[in-house]
Amino acid sequence: MYYGHELQFGTFITPGNNPPETAVSLAQLSEQLGFDLVTFQDHPYQPAFLDTWTLLTWVAASTERVHVSANVLNLPLRPPAVIARAAASLDLLSHGRFDLGLGAGGFWDAIDAMGGRRLTPGQSVDALSEAIDVIRGIWDVEDRSVLRVEGEHYRLDGAKRGPAPAHNIPIWLGAYKPRMLRLTGGKADGWLPSLGYMKPGEFAASSAVIDEAALGAGRDPREIRRLVNIGGSFGDSNGGFLNGPSDQWVDELLPYVVDHGVGTFILASDDPGTMQRFALEVAPALREAVARETAAAAQPTALIRSAAARLRRRDGIDYDSLPSSLAAGAVEPGDAGYSRVKSTYMRGGEPGLVIKAHNVDEVADALAFVRAHPEVALGVRSGGHGISGRSTNDGGIVIDVSPMNAIEVLDESNRLVRIEPGARWKDVAFALTPYGWALSSGDYGGVGVGGLATAGGVGWMVREHGLTIDHLRAVEMVLADGSVVRASGSENSDLFWAVRGAGANFGIVTSFEFEVDEVGDLGFAQLAFDATDTAGFLERWGAAVEAAPRDLTSFMLMGAARAGQAPVAQVMTAVDSDDPDVVLERLQPLAGIAPLLDQSVSMTPYTGIITNSQDGSHSGQGEPTARTGLLEHITPEFAAAAVELIESGATYFFQIRSVGGAVQDVDPDATAYAHRSANFSVVAFGSNRDRLDAAWDELHQHFSGLYISFETDLRPERIEDGYPPRTLSRLRELKLRYDPANVFRDNFNIVQPVASAAE
Ligand SMILES: Cc1cc2nc3c(=O)[nH]c(=O)nc-3n(C[C@H](O)[C@H](O)[C@H](O)COP(=O)(O)OP(=O)(O)OC[C@H]3O[C@@H](n4cnc5c(N)ncnc54)[C@H](O)[C@@H]3O)c2cc1C
Repeated sequence: MYYGHELQFGTFITPGNNPPETAVSLAQLSEQLGFDLVTFQDHPYQPAFLDTWTLLTWVAASTERVHVSANVLNLPLRPPAVIARAAASLDLLSHGRFDLGLGAGGFWDAIDAMGGRRLTPGQSVDALSEAIDVIRGIWDVEDRSVLRVEGEHYRLDGAKRGPAPAHNIPIWLGAYKPRMLRLTGGKADGWLPSLGYMKPGEFAASSAVIDEAALGAGRDPREIRRLVNIGGSFGDSNGGFLNGPSDQWVDELLPYVVDHGVGTFILASDDPGTMQRFALEVAPALREAVARETAAAAQPTALIRSAAARLRRRDGIDYDSLPSSLAAGAVEPGDAGYSRVKSTYMRGGEPGLVIKAHNVDEVADALAFVRAHPEVALGVRSGGHGISGRSTNDGGIVIDVSPMNAIEVLDESNRLVRIEPGARWKDVAFALTPYGWALSSGDYGGVGVGGLATAGGVGWMVREHGLTIDHLRAVEMVLADGSVVRASGSENSDLFWAVRGAGANFGIVTSFEFEVDEVGDLGFAQLAFDATDTAGFLERWGAAVEAAPRDLTSFMLMGAARAGQAPVAQVMTAVDSDDPDVVLERLQPLAGIAPLLDQSVSMTPYTGIITNSQDGSHSGQGEPTARTGLLEHITPEFAAAAVELIESGATYFFQIRSVGGAVQDVDPDATAYAHRSANFSVVAFGSNRDRLDAAWDELHQHFSGLYISFETDLRPERIEDGYPPRTLSRLRELKLRYDPANVFRDNFNIVQPVASAAE
């Protein structure tokens, strides 16, 4: 029986400790040769071997792509809850490269000698079954309760769950006898025997026992990957099973795939020559032979999930038609890593499928899958900090390009840098600082490049260095029809125009090329003011900022005053000068606008300002409510209206950022970000949409447009605020050309003619 698993190859390396580095270099060689998996036997009572966990960790840290596993891990000497946590930790640290081969034990004298408990064969299978429940229970962070297990061998009384592994760690069992085989069929994700230990015909018979047990447990036998350890040697003539030339190996292994469903062959060898011949001669030829032999068979299903996981799938998504190229990056609601990908920084979500794309081809494949689901919502995610752009949803698909996060210098003399969308702005800052460079970005290091660099980019150096998009020289992007295009001033220049301000409407940008600036240390000041005279304070701050040279950029933040306390305004200001005297000179006019309550000033590289975020997954809840507008000047009328808004309590976060300066040097028609004349960008977050709107609508008359990144109002007139008429009509024309079906709609959508109640 062919099970349609994508064929994989691994190595089985002796974890000998003399010299200790050998096992690690053989693992590295395995990766270089293209093997998918590196495994080590585990005998924790054996002094001639390195400790397996330590070795696995070391190998994972010394490699980049290959998966690692014990082959198989000895359970009796380790508490299963600890195994679960160690496994999840290594999986997280290796970005999803740990797999769990597990065994019931054996060698009971040695286990006994090490302080372990001697079990009968039957007891050891029962213990393994309980251990699997414990391990999966610890990984199941979706279950908010503490873990209690009343087993005969393992009892847990209120253990905390977590961490969730980075991927669905498969549990493969080393099984030979009927009870173990039945356990494999009933519970495991894979079967991992050594062919050398089996009699002729035993493999097929054992596999049938597993299938029967799987069906008996309501499972699809294909849920259980068949992995097998093999050994042999290469020679010129046929010296018996797997002893001979490469084509003999291929002929002898082929029936194991097409007749017995093997998905993974693991080569037991410490000989680099044997590993090389296998990788270069056997593996590719076997893949071809399998493709030939199975061409007529049903195509492999990429997502083989347990019945329990399938129950949590969402309607409208044909999960089984996901191409196998995307299987490794697909996370669905029943998966271990789901809790880490379902929500974003500002939003809670329950998407039906998150597809992590690692390269342009995967983005194109993911888009083809999306096109086959026209009714299903699509979110595009880079850094997951979207406010107007929705990179999560309820029951839809998310294409997540966060794994594409490379940053490389293309041309040092011209300061040309290529950055992928999943990079965070703090990563960019750290990559550029050693060159004495920086790229004007936002104020928060955790924001992703993809969302910000397709919209604008208003940050700490905006008056001196302009918007982030003003530094863009070219993009590579995947369009709605799956085609990959480059856009720049000279190629697809209309698309390049649109990307700089409305990029999310046109495709998924897979890389950006920026010309960055030389930037040394900056002065950075945090000043707290008594803003009792709030209106006067706002006017004076606005005037001081407008009068300041461009090297000063200032952001002002206020919330409603605490009961019985004077209102406080926080002013954060960056001065792009490495001369402390210049910094102080620039700050002086600001410091005098109101009584100072607190102050701190420092000289710092740009990294010191932008390293203000935590890494890790997002756990946003609900929907943000944000209103924004672009302002020419802080007039007395605007200041009075702003005071009313602040005092109404409808906003918990009211911020005014300086724009102006270099932003105004760019022709409004040069990019889709056209509101170039504004000196300020105003944003208010509220927890109650109706209350915020009632106050905000009073303010609206003062604005001349808005910067789309901070707006969550879906009313059609907001689109007209985002883009002036000439810009909007050109954008809509281009949208018809590049995305006529409006595949890219869950953003600040330029098509949107009707009000939506989604907010
Ligand atoms: C805490 C915080 C601070 C912020 N500070 C600033 C700031 O100082 N200056 C500023 O200008 N903005 C700022 N923003 C707004 C921010 O720029 C946008 O929210 C931006 O969209 C986030 O990008 P992301 O990749 O992290 O978000 P994601 O949530 O991943 O994406 C948001 C949207 O952008 C689009 N998108 C994402 N990736 C791509 C891609 N590769 N190709 C095409 N479209 C894509 C999609 O429509 C997506 O839904 C801030 C936001 C937050 C939450």
